[in-house]
Amino acid sequence: MPSTIRRTKIIFTLGPATESEEMLEKLIRAGADVIRLNMAHAKHDWTRAVIKRVREVSRRVGRDVAIMMDIKGPEIRTGDVAAPIELKAGEIFDFTVRPGGAGEGSEEIRSVNVNYQDLVNDIHVGDIVLVDSGLLRFEVLERNDRHIRCKVLTPGQLTSRRHINLPGVKVNLPSFTDKDRGDALVGLEAGIDFIAMSFVREAADIEQLREFLRWHDSRVQIIAKIEDQSAIANLDEIVRACDALMVARGDLGIECPYEELPIIQRRAVQTCQALGRPVIIATHMLESMITQPMPTRAEITDVANAVYELADCVMLSGETTVGRYPLESVLMLDKISRRIEADQLQQGETPRPMILTSDKMKVLRSAVVMANELPGSAILTFTRRGFIAQGLAALRPLQAPILAFTPHEETFRQMRLLRAIEPWYMPFASDPDTTIENAINMLRKEGRIQVGARLVVATDLLSQNRLFDSVQLRTVK
Ligand code: PEP
Repeated sequence: MPSTIRRTKIIFTLGPATESEEMLEKLIRAGADVIRLNMAHAKHDWTRAVIKRVREVSRRVGRDVAIMMDIKGPEIRTGDVAAPIELKAGEIFDFTVRPGGAGEGSEEIRSVNVNYQDLVNDIHVGDIVLVDSGLLRFEVLERNDRHIRCKVLTPGQLTSRRHINLPGVKVNLPSFTDKDRGDALVGLEAGIDFIAMSFVREAADIEQLREFLRWHDSRVQIIAKIEDQSAIANLDEIVRACDALMVARGDLGIECPYEELPIIQRRAVQTCQALGRPVIIATHMLESMITQPMPTRAEITDVANAVYELADCVMLSGETTVGRYPLESVLMLDKISRRIEADQLQQGETPRPMILTSDKMKVLRSAVVMANELPGSAILTFTRRGFIAQGLAALRPLQAPILAFTPHEETFRQMRLLRAIEPWYMPFASDPDTTIENAINMLRKEGRIQVGARLVVATDLLSQNRLFDSVQLRTVK
């Protein structure tokens, strides 16, 4: 049975360009798998309304997508300026943390306030301050308890409330802020499937969010966004602690030397595959499509590389929030992914070996090995919380789609994130064999499989009133 699905999943960020029912319907029909809400720009009323809208449109279209709430995390910003400040190269400029600190009485030195008091403690002389996605660059010359005094290295225009990055500086801000808590509560109430945590620096950050979710009796999964040098230093523990990883290349490309970015991406993808976690490649994938109907050749190759690396998902941001071609962007990801996946299959590329820590994973690997040996086969599996599906997806079967049945709607949607997984929703019977039969009947009825299809079934087997892990080969009769 040839795979008719795209193995690489597509995430798009919802914004003014895509929030209408009409656009949502088009993008869901075009194959979007997960919709991201960026809480840096979202109000609570809007959040509730769009979650409801996504669910309604999904129901109407008959294709349930997952919703990811991306919480902002710790963020340092400049304050308001009365008019844009034109900064010149070599100019001395102050970032002040206390009223009255601006310019220290000097008429010539201009300044801006910053929303983070500890800036003056965390930073050192010689450090670099980046403002507005790194467009403005400063070197710290001196500091006191009121301000840091800097030299402008890269000139430009400073406007109100710009984001500040401090590469390599350990910032003393909580990972899960009060704003994040408020946003997350709205998300839990409205029924999100994932929370993406920004600026995760260590596993303890994820544990804090997990504790919050446990307290609220929630099964929402945690996506760790790696965006700075601490996250790279603690990559292994972060991957182990999260449910999925996002390589957030926007901030990562500012916080780390840019030539390191491809190396970090490759290492992150490999670490996730070795430890069995899904991984998302995010930001600037089709950036030029914000204004142009066609991507650049370099962007096409960037998307292709993510697929060749066997990432689970590729993600759109500005392309679908404010872009002029959101539908075309989703269709473009779909087209490039399918073409590269076909090439991978033709080349017979094998994934890197995975570290198998449990007997269960070894059983799942035997299912994947069997499917790889049987061209045209599919893997059929059954999962309540999605762990088996996650394990099978992480083993990266070469050609077989993974038809994953679950009796839980939440798991059904969460499986949208996993490479090569095709989620199916169906209540389970009390005995595993009946569940398998019901699933096969459902797949036949829906036209997904035909008589003669070969299915590698990875599931529980009931024998003498005990459940065993099993891998069976079935030919559909
Ligand atoms: C990024 O920095 O790449 C990212 C995805 O995060 P955000 O859009 O929240 O800046």
